[in-house]
Amino acid sequence: MVSRVIPVDPFDLVIFGGTGDLAKRKILPGLFRRFVSGQMPSEALIMGAARAKMNDTEYRDLVKIAILEFGSASLDEKLLVDFLDKVTYLRIDATGEAGWLELSQSMRNGPVRAFYFSVAPSLFGALAERLKKHKIALSDSRIVVEKPFGRDLESAKILNATLAAHFSEDQIYRIDHYLGKETVQNLMAVRFGNLLFEPLWNSQYIDHIQITVAEKVDVEGRGEYYNTSGAMRDMVQNHLMQLLCLIAMEPPAQFNPDAVRDEKLKVIRALDKVPPHHIVRGQYEASSDSFGYREHANDAKSRTESYVAIKAHVSNWRWAGTPFYMRTGKRLRSRCSEIAVVFKQPPHSIFGSEAGTHRNALVIRLQPDEGITMDMTIKEPGPGGMRLITVPLDMTFSEALGPAAEEVPDAYERLIMDVIRGNQTLFMRGDEVEAAWEWTDPIIKGWKERNDVPKPYDAGSSGPDDALMLLHREDRKWRPI
Ligand code: NAP
Repeated sequence: MVSRVIPVDPFDLVIFGGTGDLAKRKILPGLFRRFVSGQMPSEALIMGAARAKMNDTEYRDLVKIAILEFGSASLDEKLLVDFLDKVTYLRIDATGEAGWLELSQSMRNGPVRAFYFSVAPSLFGALAERLKKHKIALSDSRIVVEKPFGRDLESAKILNATLAAHFSEDQIYRIDHYLGKETVQNLMAVRFGNLLFEPLWNSQYIDHIQITVAEKVDVEGRGEYYNTSGAMRDMVQNHLMQLLCLIAMEPPAQFNPDAVRDEKLKVIRALDKVPPHHIVRGQYEASSDSFGYREHANDAKSRTESYVAIKAHVSNWRWAGTPFYMRTGKRLRSRCSEIAVVFKQPPHSIFGSEAGTHRNALVIRLQPDEGITMDMTIKEPGPGGMRLITVPLDMTFSEALGPAAEEVPDAYERLIMDVIRGNQTLFMRGDEVEAAWEWTDPIIKGWKERNDVPKPYDAGSSGPDDALMLLHREDRKWRPI
Protein backbone atom coordinates (compact mmCIF):
# COMPACT_ATOMS: atom_id res chain seq x y z
CA MET A 1 0.00 0.00 0.00
CA VAL A 2 1.47 3.37 -1.01
CA SER A 3 0.77 6.37 1.23
CA ARG A 4 -1.00 9.28 -0.38
CA VAL A 5 0.72 12.64 -0.10
CA ILE A 6 -1.51 15.53 -1.00
CA PRO A 7 0.44 18.78 -1.42
CA VAL A 8 -0.78 21.70 0.65
CA ASP A 9 -1.48 25.09 -0.87
CA PRO A 10 1.47 27.42 -1.51
CA PHE A 11 2.44 29.30 1.64
CA ASP A 12 4.66 31.99 3.13
CA LEU A 13 5.75 30.75 6.55
CA VAL A 14 7.59 33.14 8.85
CA ILE A 15 9.36 31.47 11.77
CA PHE A 16 9.95 34.03 14.50
CA GLY A 17 12.76 32.55 16.57
CA GLY A 18 14.04 30.92 13.38
CA THR A 19 17.54 30.58 14.87
CA GLY A 20 16.36 29.00 18.13
CA ASP A 21 16.52 25.47 19.45
CA LEU A 22 12.97 24.46 18.50
CA ALA A 23 13.33 25.79 14.95
CA LYS A 24 16.61 23.93 14.48
CA ARG A 25 15.56 20.65 16.07
CA LYS A 26 11.96 20.32 14.94
CA ILE A 27 10.45 22.96 12.67
CA LEU A 28 13.08 23.26 9.92
CA PRO A 29 13.99 19.55 9.66
CA GLY A 30 10.25 18.79 9.71
CA LEU A 31 9.60 21.19 6.84
CA PHE A 32 12.44 19.64 4.89
CA ARG A 33 10.93 16.17 5.33
CA ARG A 34 7.57 17.45 4.09
CA PHE A 35 9.35 18.98 1.11
CA VAL A 36 11.06 15.67 0.32
CA SER A 37 7.74 13.85 0.64
CA GLY A 38 6.18 16.19 -1.91
CA GLN A 39 3.69 17.69 0.52
CA MET A 40 5.33 21.11 0.64
CA PRO A 41 4.76 22.70 -2.75
CA SER A 42 7.63 24.20 -4.70
CA GLU A 43 5.96 27.65 -4.53
CA ALA A 44 6.28 27.72 -0.72
CA LEU A 45 8.60 30.19 1.01
CA ILE A 46 10.09 29.96 4.51
CA MET A 47 11.43 33.03 6.25
CA GLY A 48 13.47 32.71 9.42
CA ALA A 49 13.33 35.80 11.64
CA ALA A 50 15.32 36.74 14.73
CA ARG A 51 17.47 39.61 16.01
CA ALA A 52 20.84 38.08 15.11
CA LYS A 53 22.65 39.72 12.20
CA MET A 54 22.75 37.23 9.38
CA ASN A 55 22.27 37.15 5.63
CA ASP A 56 20.31 34.56 3.63
CA THR A 57 23.43 32.50 2.89
CA GLU A 58 24.44 32.36 6.52
CA TYR A 59 20.92 31.40 7.54
CA ARG A 60 20.77 28.67 4.90
CA ASP A 61 24.01 27.29 6.34
CA LEU A 62 22.37 27.22 9.78
CA VAL A 63 19.32 25.47 8.34
CA LYS A 64 21.50 22.98 6.47
CA ILE A 65 23.43 22.10 9.63
CA ALA A 66 20.15 21.68 11.54
CA ILE A 67 18.76 19.35 8.86
CA LEU A 68 21.97 17.33 8.77
CA GLU A 69 21.89 16.99 12.55
CA PHE A 70 18.19 16.49 13.18
CA GLY A 71 16.70 15.65 9.79
CA SER A 72 16.29 12.39 7.97
CA ALA A 73 19.10 9.85 7.93
CA SER A 74 19.25 9.54 4.14
CA LEU A 75 19.67 12.86 2.49
CA ASP A 76 19.39 13.81 -1.16
CA GLU A 77 21.79 16.72 -1.79
CA LYS A 78 19.80 17.99 -4.75
CA LEU A 79 16.58 18.10 -2.71
CA LEU A 80 18.40 19.88 0.09
CA VAL A 81 19.66 22.55 -2.31
CA ASP A 82 16.14 22.96 -3.74
CA PHE A 83 14.71 23.27 -0.24
CA LEU A 84 17.29 25.81 0.90
CA ASP A 85 16.44 27.85 -2.15
CA LYS A 86 13.05 28.53 -0.55
CA VAL A 87 14.56 29.75 2.70
CA THR A 88 15.39 33.36 3.51
CA TYR A 89 16.24 35.30 6.63
CA LEU A 90 15.04 38.60 8.03
CA ARG A 91 16.48 40.45 10.98
CA ILE A 92 13.52 41.45 13.11
CA ASP A 93 13.14 42.55 16.69
CA ALA A 94 9.76 41.49 18.05
CA THR A 95 9.73 44.42 20.44
CA GLY A 96 11.23 47.05 18.14
CA GLU A 97 10.53 48.47 14.71
CA ALA A 98 13.54 47.03 12.88
CA GLY A 99 12.73 44.63 10.07
CA TRP A 100 8.96 44.94 9.91
CA LEU A 101 8.81 46.98 6.73
CA GLU A 102 11.12 44.48 5.00
CA LEU A 103 8.91 41.62 6.16
CA SER A 104 5.83 43.37 4.88
CA GLN A 105 7.49 43.81 1.48
CA SER A 106 8.61 40.18 1.36
CA MET A 107 5.13 38.73 1.76
CA ARG A 108 3.49 37.65 -1.47
CA ASN A 109 -0.13 38.08 -2.38
CA GLY A 110 -1.97 34.82 -2.79
CA PRO A 111 -0.18 32.17 -0.72
CA VAL A 112 -1.42 31.25 2.75
CA ARG A 113 0.35 33.35 5.37
CA ALA A 114 1.44 31.60 8.55
CA PHE A 115 3.53 32.94 11.42
CA TYR A 116 5.18 30.54 13.83
CA PHE A 117 5.88 32.19 17.20
CA SER A 118 8.85 30.03 18.21
CA VAL A 119 9.92 32.58 20.82
CA ALA A 120 9.31 33.15 24.52
CA PRO A 121 5.60 33.70 25.29
CA SER A 122 6.45 37.17 26.62
CA LEU A 123 6.96 38.17 22.97
CA PHE A 124 3.63 36.84 21.65
CA GLY A 125 1.80 40.10 22.27
CA ALA A 126 4.47 42.25 20.61
CA LEU A 127 4.55 39.99 17.55
CA ALA A 128 0.76 39.84 17.23
CA GLU A 129 0.46 43.59 17.51
CA ARG A 130 3.14 44.34 14.91
CA LEU A 131 1.85 41.76 12.45
CA LYS A 132 -1.47 43.54 12.52
CA LYS A 133 -0.13 47.09 12.67
CA HIS A 134 2.02 46.56 9.59
CA LYS A 135 -0.85 44.76 7.82
CA ILE A 136 1.33 41.70 7.38
CA ALA A 137 -1.25 39.34 8.87
CA LEU A 138 -4.50 39.24 6.91
CA SER A 139 -7.91 38.08 8.05
CA ASP A 140 -7.17 34.49 6.97
CA SER A 141 -3.54 34.37 8.15
CA ARG A 142 -2.57 31.93 10.91
CA ILE A 143 -0.37 32.19 13.95
CA VAL A 144 1.17 29.20 15.70
CA VAL A 145 2.01 29.47 19.38
CA GLU A 146 4.08 27.15 21.50
CA LYS A 147 3.83 25.93 25.04
CA PRO A 148 4.00 27.06 27.77
CA PHE A 149 0.64 28.76 27.29
CA GLY A 150 0.63 30.63 30.59
CA ARG A 151 1.75 29.39 33.99
CA ASP A 152 -1.68 29.57 35.61
CA LEU A 153 -5.25 30.46 34.75
CA GLU A 154 -4.70 34.18 35.12
CA SER A 155 -1.65 34.36 32.85
CA ALA A 156 -3.32 32.07 30.27
CA LYS A 157 -6.34 34.39 30.22
CA ILE A 158 -4.08 37.38 29.68
CA LEU A 159 -2.27 35.58 26.86
CA ASN A 160 -5.55 34.57 25.24
CA ALA A 161 -6.85 38.13 25.51
CA THR A 162 -3.59 39.51 24.07
CA LEU A 163 -3.83 37.28 21.03
CA ALA A 164 -7.58 37.81 20.71
CA ALA A 165 -6.99 41.56 20.46
CA HIS A 166 -5.39 40.97 17.05
CA PHE A 167 -6.50 37.53 15.84
CA SER A 168 -9.72 35.57 15.85
CA GLU A 169 -9.78 32.14 17.51
CA ASP A 170 -9.87 30.37 14.14
CA GLN A 171 -6.52 31.98 13.27
CA ILE A 172 -4.75 30.81 16.45
CA TYR A 173 -3.03 27.40 16.47
CA ARG A 174 -1.89 26.43 19.99
CA ILE A 175 0.51 23.54 19.58
CA ASP A 176 0.55 20.49 21.77
CA HIS A 177 2.81 18.25 19.76
CA TYR A 178 1.46 15.13 21.50
CA LEU A 179 -1.73 15.59 19.50
CA GLY A 180 0.28 15.45 16.28
CA LYS A 181 1.60 11.98 16.96
CA GLU A 182 0.45 9.31 14.56
CA THR A 183 -0.59 6.94 17.32
CA VAL A 184 -2.67 9.55 19.12
CA GLN A 185 -4.71 9.99 15.98
CA ASN A 186 -4.80 6.26 15.49
CA LEU A 187 -6.27 6.01 18.97
CA MET A 188 -9.23 8.05 17.71
CA ALA A 189 -9.47 5.91 14.56
CA VAL A 190 -9.39 2.69 16.58
CA ARG A 191 -11.91 4.01 19.06
CA PHE A 192 -14.41 5.61 16.72
CA GLY A 193 -13.80 3.64 13.52
CA ASN A 194 -14.52 0.21 15.01
CA LEU A 195 -17.65 -1.04 16.64
CA LEU A 196 -15.62 -3.37 18.81
CA PHE A 197 -14.38 -0.95 21.45
CA GLU A 198 -17.04 1.67 21.96
CA PRO A 199 -19.61 -0.60 23.70
CA LEU A 200 -16.89 -1.53 26.22
CA TRP A 201 -15.51 1.99 26.59
CA ASN A 202 -16.93 2.82 30.00
CA SER A 203 -16.63 2.13 33.70
CA GLN A 204 -18.60 -1.07 33.40
CA TYR A 205 -15.79 -2.76 31.48
CA ILE A 206 -12.73 -0.60 32.02
CA ASP A 207 -11.02 -1.03 35.36
CA HIS A 208 -8.68 1.93 35.08
CA ILE A 209 -6.54 3.94 32.72
CA GLN A 210 -2.83 4.68 33.04
CA ILE A 211 -1.17 7.55 31.24
CA THR A 212 2.61 7.57 31.51
CA VAL A 213 5.12 10.02 30.11
CA ALA A 214 8.47 8.92 31.51
CA GLU A 215 11.73 10.57 30.57
CA LYS A 216 15.20 9.17 31.11
CA VAL A 217 16.86 12.55 30.77
CA ASP A 218 17.23 15.07 33.58
CA VAL A 219 16.35 18.75 33.25
CA GLU A 220 19.11 19.04 30.64
CA GLY A 221 20.63 22.41 31.41
CA ARG A 222 17.18 24.00 31.76
CA GLY A 223 17.22 23.47 35.54
CA GLU A 224 16.70 27.07 36.55
CA TYR A 225 13.82 27.54 34.12
CA TYR A 226 12.30 24.16 35.02
CA ASN A 227 12.49 25.07 38.69
CA THR A 228 9.91 27.79 38.06
CA SER A 229 7.65 25.30 36.35
CA GLY A 230 7.78 21.66 37.52
CA ALA A 231 6.22 18.51 36.08
CA MET A 232 2.65 19.64 36.72
CA ARG A 233 2.92 22.79 34.62
CA ASP A 234 5.42 21.41 32.13
CA MET A 235 3.69 18.11 31.31
CA VAL A 236 0.40 17.42 33.08
CA GLN A 237 -1.50 20.62 32.33
CA ASN A 238 -0.95 20.16 28.61
CA HIS A 239 0.26 16.80 27.25
CA LEU A 240 -1.16 14.38 29.83
CA MET A 241 -4.49 16.17 30.08
CA GLN A 242 -4.84 16.21 26.31
CA LEU A 243 -4.27 12.45 26.21
CA LEU A 244 -6.77 11.96 29.01
CA CYS A 245 -9.32 13.97 27.03
CA LEU A 246 -8.95 11.83 23.92
CA ILE A 247 -9.48 8.65 25.92
CA ALA A 248 -12.39 9.96 27.96
CA MET A 249 -14.31 12.14 25.50
CA GLU A 250 -17.69 11.24 24.06
CA PRO A 251 -17.76 10.48 20.32
CA PRO A 252 -17.90 13.85 18.56
CA ALA A 253 -20.62 14.14 15.94
CA GLN A 254 -17.94 14.76 13.33
CA PHE A 255 -14.17 14.78 13.17
CA ASN A 256 -13.99 18.53 12.87
CA PRO A 257 -12.15 21.05 15.04
CA ASP A 258 -14.96 22.41 17.16
CA ALA A 259 -16.83 19.12 17.54
CA VAL A 260 -13.67 17.41 18.84
CA ARG A 261 -12.63 20.31 21.04
CA ASP A 262 -16.10 20.72 22.51
CA GLU A 263 -15.97 17.09 23.67
CA LYS A 264 -12.45 17.46 25.10
CA LEU A 265 -13.53 20.56 27.00
CA LYS A 266 -16.44 18.66 28.56
CA VAL A 267 -13.99 16.07 29.89
CA ILE A 268 -11.78 18.69 31.54
CA ARG A 269 -14.84 20.29 33.09
CA ALA A 270 -15.94 16.90 34.44
CA LEU A 271 -12.65 16.29 36.26
CA ASP A 272 -13.06 16.15 40.01
CA LYS A 273 -10.99 18.26 42.33
CA VAL A 274 -8.04 16.08 43.37
CA PRO A 275 -7.53 15.48 47.10
CA PRO A 276 -3.89 15.70 48.31
CA HIS A 277 -3.64 11.98 49.06
CA HIS A 278 -4.33 11.20 45.38
CA ILE A 279 -1.15 12.97 44.30
CA VAL A 280 2.49 12.05 44.74
CA ARG A 281 5.24 14.49 43.90
CA GLY A 282 8.87 13.51 43.59
CA GLN A 283 12.36 14.88 43.02
CA TYR A 284 15.23 12.80 41.66
CA GLU A 285 18.27 12.32 43.86
CA ALA A 286 21.92 12.49 42.93
CA SER A 287 23.44 9.23 41.73
CA SER A 288 27.06 8.06 41.61
CA ASP A 289 27.50 9.60 38.18
CA SER A 290 25.13 12.55 38.12
CA PHE A 291 23.75 15.43 40.12
CA GLY A 292 20.35 15.41 41.72
CA TYR A 293 17.46 17.71 40.85
CA ARG A 294 18.36 20.37 43.39
CA GLU A 295 21.92 20.68 42.05
CA HIS A 296 20.58 20.86 38.49
CA ALA A 297 18.10 23.53 39.53
CA ASN A 298 20.81 25.36 41.46
CA ASP A 299 18.41 25.58 44.37
CA ALA A 300 19.34 23.56 47.47
CA LYS A 301 15.89 24.00 48.98
CA SER A 302 13.82 23.56 45.82
CA ARG A 303 10.34 22.17 46.31
CA THR A 304 9.61 21.88 42.61
CA GLU A 305 8.57 18.41 41.45
CA SER A 306 10.46 16.57 38.73
CA TYR A 307 7.87 13.79 39.04
CA VAL A 308 4.16 13.69 39.65
CA ALA A 309 1.60 10.90 39.83
CA ILE A 310 -2.12 11.65 40.09
CA LYS A 311 -5.26 9.65 40.51
CA ALA A 312 -8.00 11.56 38.72
CA HIS A 313 -11.70 11.00 38.28
CA VAL A 314 -13.89 12.08 35.40
CA SER A 315 -17.26 12.56 37.02
CA ASN A 316 -19.77 11.72 34.36
CA TRP A 317 -22.07 8.86 33.48
CA ARG A 318 -19.49 7.02 31.37
CA TRP A 319 -16.56 7.13 33.77
CA ALA A 320 -17.97 7.17 37.30
CA GLY A 321 -15.78 4.78 39.31
CA THR A 322 -12.95 4.36 36.77
CA PRO A 323 -9.76 6.06 37.93
CA PHE A 324 -7.38 7.73 35.50
CA TYR A 325 -3.82 7.43 36.80
CA MET A 326 -1.33 9.83 35.27
CA ARG A 327 2.40 9.96 35.94
CA THR A 328 5.29 11.81 34.43
CA GLY A 329 8.82 12.43 35.52
CA LYS A 330 12.41 13.04 34.63
CA ARG A 331 15.46 10.87 35.21
CA LEU A 332 13.39 7.70 35.29
CA ARG A 333 14.35 4.18 34.25
CA SER A 334 13.50 4.59 30.60
CA ARG A 335 11.95 6.90 28.05
CA CYS A 336 8.43 5.68 27.60
CA SER A 337 5.12 7.37 26.83
CA GLU A 338 2.02 5.29 26.70
CA ILE A 339 -1.65 5.11 27.51
CA ALA A 340 -2.94 1.81 28.85
CA VAL A 341 -6.66 1.14 28.97
CA VAL A 342 -6.91 -1.73 31.42
CA PHE A 343 -10.12 -3.75 31.19
CA LYS A 344 -11.80 -5.57 34.04
CA GLN A 345 -11.40 -9.30 34.50
CA PRO A 346 -14.04 -11.61 33.09
CA PRO A 347 -16.76 -11.95 35.74
CA HIS A 348 -16.08 -15.65 36.26
CA SER A 349 -13.09 -17.83 35.41
CA ILE A 350 -14.12 -21.19 33.99
CA PHE A 351 -10.47 -22.22 34.26
CA GLY A 352 -10.31 -21.99 38.03
CA SER A 353 -8.14 -19.92 40.29
CA GLU A 354 -4.90 -21.68 39.23
CA ALA A 355 -5.27 -20.07 35.78
CA GLY A 356 -4.35 -16.78 37.45
CA THR A 357 -5.74 -13.32 36.83
CA HIS A 358 -5.55 -11.90 33.34
CA ARG A 359 -6.84 -8.66 31.98
CA ASN A 360 -7.07 -7.20 28.53
CA ALA A 361 -5.22 -3.96 28.10
CA LEU A 362 -5.24 -1.71 25.07
CA VAL A 363 -1.84 -0.01 25.04
CA ILE A 364 -1.24 3.04 22.93
CA ARG A 365 2.48 3.63 22.82
CA LEU A 366 3.66 7.08 21.83
CA GLN A 367 7.39 6.58 22.29
CA PRO A 368 9.63 4.86 21.64
CA ASP A 369 8.26 2.73 18.79
CA GLU A 370 4.84 4.31 18.27
CA GLY A 371 2.19 1.63 18.04
CA ILE A 372 -0.90 0.03 19.50
CA THR A 373 -1.08 -3.38 21.13
CA MET A 374 -3.89 -5.30 22.77
CA ASP A 375 -2.98 -7.59 25.64
CA MET A 376 -4.97 -10.78 25.09
CA THR A 377 -5.32 -13.86 27.22
CA ILE A 378 -4.57 -17.10 25.40
CA LYS A 379 -3.68 -20.65 26.24
CA GLU A 380 -0.01 -21.25 26.77
CA PRO A 381 0.97 -23.48 23.84
CA GLY A 382 1.92 -27.08 24.48
CA PRO A 383 0.79 -29.92 26.65
CA GLY A 384 0.24 -29.63 30.37
CA GLY A 385 -3.35 -28.56 30.69
CA MET A 386 -5.07 -25.21 30.42
CA ARG A 387 -2.52 -22.63 31.46
CA LEU A 388 -3.30 -19.06 30.48
CA ILE A 389 -0.83 -16.37 29.48
CA THR A 390 -1.15 -12.75 28.37
CA VAL A 391 0.38 -11.81 25.03
CA PRO A 392 0.33 -8.51 23.17
CA LEU A 393 -1.51 -8.47 19.87
CA ASP A 394 0.26 -6.01 17.59
CA MET A 395 -2.27 -3.60 16.11
CA THR A 396 0.16 -1.43 14.17
CA PHE A 397 -0.41 -3.57 11.09
CA SER A 398 3.01 -2.85 9.62
CA GLU A 399 2.77 -5.96 7.47
CA ALA A 400 -0.62 -4.97 6.06
CA LEU A 401 0.41 -1.37 5.48
CA GLY A 402 3.92 -2.08 4.18
CA PRO A 403 6.24 0.89 3.62
CA ALA A 404 3.42 3.37 4.37
CA ALA A 405 3.67 2.38 8.03
CA GLU A 406 7.35 3.39 8.01
CA GLU A 407 6.77 6.82 6.47
CA VAL A 408 5.04 8.37 9.43
CA PRO A 409 5.64 12.10 9.71
CA ASP A 410 6.87 13.51 12.98
CA ALA A 411 4.29 15.36 15.08
CA TYR A 412 5.64 18.81 14.24
CA GLU A 413 5.67 18.32 10.50
CA ARG A 414 2.12 17.00 10.53
CA LEU A 415 0.93 19.91 12.65
CA ILE A 416 2.62 22.54 10.48
CA MET A 417 0.94 21.05 7.43
CA ASP A 418 -2.39 21.20 9.30
CA VAL A 419 -1.79 24.90 9.94
CA ILE A 420 -1.34 25.49 6.21
CA ARG A 421 -4.46 23.43 5.49
CA GLY A 422 -6.36 25.49 8.06
CA ASN A 423 -7.32 22.45 10.14
CA GLN A 424 -7.43 23.18 13.88
CA THR A 425 -8.63 19.75 15.06
CA LEU A 426 -5.28 18.83 16.62
CA PHE A 427 -4.70 22.23 18.24
CA MET A 428 -5.92 23.42 21.62
CA ARG A 429 -8.67 26.00 21.78
CA GLY A 430 -8.35 28.92 24.19
CA ASP A 431 -11.15 27.73 26.47
CA GLU A 432 -9.61 24.25 26.70
CA VAL A 433 -6.30 25.67 27.86
CA GLU A 434 -8.04 27.85 30.44
CA ALA A 435 -10.13 24.92 31.72
CA ALA A 436 -6.98 22.83 32.10
CA TRP A 437 -5.38 25.57 34.21
CA GLU A 438 -8.56 25.86 36.23
CA TRP A 439 -8.12 22.20 37.22
CA THR A 440 -4.36 22.32 37.85
CA ASP A 441 -4.16 25.70 39.63
CA PRO A 442 -5.74 24.55 42.94
CA ILE A 443 -3.42 21.53 43.02
CA ILE A 444 -0.31 23.71 42.67
CA LYS A 445 -1.72 26.28 45.08
CA GLY A 446 -2.42 23.51 47.64
CA TRP A 447 1.22 22.37 47.54
CA LYS A 448 2.37 25.90 48.18
CA GLU A 449 -0.04 26.45 51.05
CA ARG A 450 0.90 23.16 52.71
CA ASN A 451 4.63 23.66 52.07
CA ASP A 452 4.54 20.28 50.42
CA VAL A 453 7.97 18.65 50.04
CA PRO A 454 8.42 16.30 47.05
CA LYS A 455 9.43 12.72 47.85
CA PRO A 456 12.98 11.80 46.80
CA TYR A 457 13.44 9.05 44.22
CA ASP A 458 16.50 7.33 42.83
CA ALA A 459 17.73 8.37 39.43
CA GLY A 460 17.00 5.53 37.02
CA SER A 461 14.09 4.20 39.09
CA SER A 462 10.39 4.23 38.28
CA GLY A 463 9.68 7.10 40.69
CA PRO A 464 8.94 7.47 44.40
CA ASP A 465 7.64 4.45 46.33
CA ASP A 466 4.54 6.41 47.31
CA ALA A 467 3.57 6.55 43.64
CA LEU A 468 3.66 2.76 43.48
CA MET A 469 1.44 2.69 46.55
CA LEU A 470 -1.10 4.95 44.84
CA LEU A 471 -2.07 1.87 42.81
CA HIS A 472 -0.91 -0.96 45.08
CA ARG A 473 -3.29 -0.02 47.83
CA GLU A 474 -6.12 -0.48 45.34
CA ASP A 475 -4.80 -3.84 44.18
CA ARG A 476 -3.54 -2.42 40.90
CA LYS A 477 -0.07 -1.83 39.61
CA TRP A 478 1.69 0.48 37.21
CA ARG A 479 2.89 -1.02 33.99
CA PRO A 480 6.67 -1.34 33.98
CA ILE A 481 8.71 1.52 32.55
P1 NAP B 1 15.58 29.63 22.09
O1 NAP B 1 16.51 28.54 21.64
O2 NAP B 1 15.97 30.46 23.26
O3 NAP B 1 15.31 30.57 20.84
C1 NAP B 1 14.63 31.77 20.95
C2 NAP B 1 14.56 32.41 19.57
O4 NAP B 1 13.88 33.65 19.70
C3 NAP B 1 15.92 32.73 18.96
O5 NAP B 1 15.85 32.53 17.56
C4 NAP B 1 16.09 34.20 19.29
O6 NAP B 1 17.02 34.78 18.38
C5 NAP B 1 14.66 34.69 19.11
N1 NAP B 1 14.37 35.92 19.82
C6 NAP B 1 14.59 36.22 21.12
N2 NAP B 1 14.20 37.46 21.40
C7 NAP B 1 13.72 38.00 20.26
C8 NAP B 1 13.17 39.24 19.90
N3 NAP B 1 13.03 40.24 20.79
N4 NAP B 1 12.77 39.43 18.62
C9 NAP B 1 12.89 38.45 17.70
N5 NAP B 1 13.41 37.25 17.98
C10 NAP B 1 13.81 37.01 19.24
O7 NAP B 1 14.14 29.04 22.44
P2 NAP B 1 13.46 27.69 21.89
O8 NAP B 1 13.92 26.56 22.73
O9 NAP B 1 13.66 27.60 20.42
O10 NAP B 1 11.94 27.92 22.26
C11 NAP B 1 11.10 28.79 21.54
C12 NAP B 1 9.67 28.67 22.09
O11 NAP B 1 9.23 27.33 21.93
C13 NAP B 1 9.55 28.96 23.58
O12 NAP B 1 8.29 29.52 23.83
C14 NAP B 1 9.62 27.57 24.22
O13 NAP B 1 8.99 27.53 25.46
C15 NAP B 1 8.87 26.78 23.19
N6 NAP B 1 9.20 25.35 23.16
C16 NAP B 1 10.45 24.93 22.89
C17 NAP B 1 10.73 23.58 22.84
C18 NAP B 1 12.09 23.07 22.51
O14 NAP B 1 12.23 21.85 22.36
N7 NAP B 1 13.10 23.90 22.36
C19 NAP B 1 9.71 22.65 23.10
C20 NAP B 1 8.42 23.11 23.38
C21 NAP B 1 8.18 24.46 23.40
P3 NAP B 1 17.76 36.19 18.69
O15 NAP B 1 18.24 36.11 20.10
O16 NAP B 1 18.83 36.25 17.68
O17 NAP B 1 16.73 37.23 18.49
